[in-house]
Amino acid sequence: MVFISVQDAIEKGKGIVSLRGWCYRERKSNKLAFIVLRDSSNIIQCVVDKENVSQKVWDDANKVCIETALSVDGEIFEDKRAPTGFELRVKNLNIIHVAERYPITKDQSTEFLLDQRHLWIRSRELTNVWKVKAVILEACREFFAKKGYYETTPPIITGSSCEGGSTLFELKYFDEKAFLSQSAQLYLEALIFSLEKVWALTPSFRAEPSKTSRHLTEYWHLEAEAAWLDFENLLKFEEELISHICQTVAKKCANELKILGRNPDDLLKIKPPFPRITYDEALKILEKDGMKIEWGKDLRTEEEEQVMKHYDKPLLVTQYPKKIKAFYMKDDPMNDKVVLCCDVLAPEGYGEIVGSSERETDLEIIKNKLVAQGENPEHYAWYLDLRRFGSVPHAGFGLGVERVVRWLCKLETIRDAIPFPRTIKRKYP
Ligand code: ATP
Ligand code: MG
Repeated sequence: MVFISVQDAIEKGKGIVSLRGWCYRERKSNKLAFIVLRDSSNIIQCVVDKENVSQKVWDDANKVCIETALSVDGEIFEDKRAPTGFELRVKNLNIIHVAERYPITKDQSTEFLLDQRHLWIRSRELTNVWKVKAVILEACREFFAKKGYYETTPPIITGSSCEGGSTLFELKYFDEKAFLSQSAQLYLEALIFSLEKVWALTPSFRAEPSKTSRHLTEYWHLEAEAAWLDFENLLKFEEELISHICQTVAKKCANELKILGRNPDDLLKIKPPFPRITYDEALKILEKDGMKIEWGKDLRTEEEEQVMKHYDKPLLVTQYPKKIKAFYMKDDPMNDKVVLCCDVLAPEGYGEIVGSSERETDLEIIKNKLVAQGENPEHYAWYLDLRRFGSVPHAGFGLGVERVVRWLCKLETIRDAIPFPRTIKRKYP
């Protein structure tokens, strides 16, 4: 027996087919059983008519309950009333496993659904999110390959921090302390001296203390670093990558996006050039809108949201004050109070999706910056070596995969952009 997918059966539109999957919904009467069958591709209504099947098939059809695994054979017919426009008239039905009573029913609380996450990830909405996410990752891989970047495998267990001590997860490492990586950046910087253009997709861990709709404690971080890349070309690269992701997802996932409430045309519009403003200009926009921010303060979520009300494409916000940015960012040669960095903010209030900068190349300047931030340069000895042996201009960025998924899929919270979200309150299941 050759099974085809539900989607292929719908596309075929007629003929005899064999399908297998799980019961998504069911309804029974004395004469008819309606079983909506779900597989990874789609759902289809299967109709069992007591008159046209054996007693065994009819009895089995009556045992089918939500999430029962089964296979069916029958003929496909177009039927406008069916949920996906076609139905299968069942000739034969084979139960593979009768499910117990499924705990998930309509209108359950968020917390309950998170407790049942191992089951809830099968839902139609989340299944579509996973598909979009897979295509986003595929688009990134394709983009880096086209640009001649090597995929690399930096470590997850580290002996030092990258984004500051307050969000570090500590772990017992035999008789010593180690930390979970917050970013692969420092290691990617080391790798450019070997491969010049590198990227990696790794989990990053941050002990984010507050509950927000855009922070996870474990997220997938797509990072790239390139020798000889200057600030202007870094920004161009980011624009092209984001646009490539949006174009690919709009084309390959049009149906998934529609089910999620996102019009694919919104994404087709995301093409370079993106608007660019400096941090100073952002403050001016905010002041005009009645939100006065003291120069030197970081932009908080509500301020980013306010700025984004003026834009419908991703926005590049550049040149933040040096004192609120990381030690490895290069000073702006035109103004040494700010650094050559860029945050990309997603439209519609989804917030920061990319953080990036040109990196400082000078050993003494980096050491001074570390000291100014209260760090001990000795803890960064290996990293500082990179400025001792052939230091060259370079730049890079980090993109939060779940932030992008959340934006493209129009999700209320970042938790739904990852199958098993980890947050301050949750590490189970
Ligand atoms: P935020 O200000 O939103 O906390 P950040 O400045 O700490 O972000 P970076 O250190 O620049 O972020 O990290 C690079 C990218 O990783 C961010 O642009 C974002 O897309 C993503 N990111 C950062 N922290 C998280 C998190 N806790 N959960 C999910 N994604 C994150
Ligand atoms: Mg942060």
